[in-house]
Amino acid sequence: MKIVNIYHILAMEFLDILFPKVCIECRSYGGDVCIECVKKIERVKTSTCFYCGKIEKNGLICVGCRDNNDTNITGIITSTIYEEGPTKEMIHYLKYCGYRDLSEMLGELIVERLKYSIIIKGAVVVPVPMHKNREIARGYNQAELLARYVSKELNSPGGLALKRTKDNPQQMKLKRGKRLENIKGSIECIDLELVKGKCVLLIDDVATTGATLSECARVLKDNGAKKVWGAVVARG
Ligand SMILES: [Zn+2]
Ligand SMILES: [Zn+2]
Repeated sequence: MKIVNIYHILAMEFLDILFPKVCIECRSYGGDVCIECVKKIERVKTSTCFYCGKIEKNGLICVGCRDNNDTNITGIITSTIYEEGPTKEMIHYLKYCGYRDLSEMLGELIVERLKYSIIIKGAVVVPVPMHKNREIARGYNQAELLARYVSKELNSPGGLALKRTKDNPQQMKLKRGKRLENIKGSIECIDLELVKGKCVLLIDDVATTGATLSECARVLKDNGAKKVWGAVVARG
């Protein structure tokens, strides 16, 4: 078995020499994302309310928006600007092109941002779930890869506390109002012990309207979680 592994590694290295990796953003040689493009990643520097953009510590949802948006999430922390630099491409390649290693680079962006926040102390790291059918088709749940990285780097407990029970249409393809309707009742808590009485840090790649994060938060709170924060790479 070991010999096979060595040959496999040698073969992969040989392939890298023959076909060096091309940057997904600028197509130059030098890794999945080249150093120059990494420099162009635009970090979020100010924490704001996800819904109205008012400055709020740790991305807390402001009082007004909590009432108006019927949201269950305590706050949403975004790490980078989606449309600037290679972020959008990186997320696209991670989700749709099998570039699973990008989860480490993107996970690191979440970690960087969270290190300055107080909410991570004792928080349980949980990924936004993906339906089994879609996960089999894709080979992995990118939110889970990100959550694993975040949990490891922050030395925080974590696990798959949520499960998606309905394979409903992708949120991305739906209009604003339809998203919450679509996601309602499709998520279940499968690890009560992990979240009961805890502050949960929900991880996803992108948040667009916040509907998925809110529904996950509702389920987690129904199962005893005290507070639920969302942490995403970017706002889509
Ligand atoms: Zn590049
Ligand atoms: Zn607000």
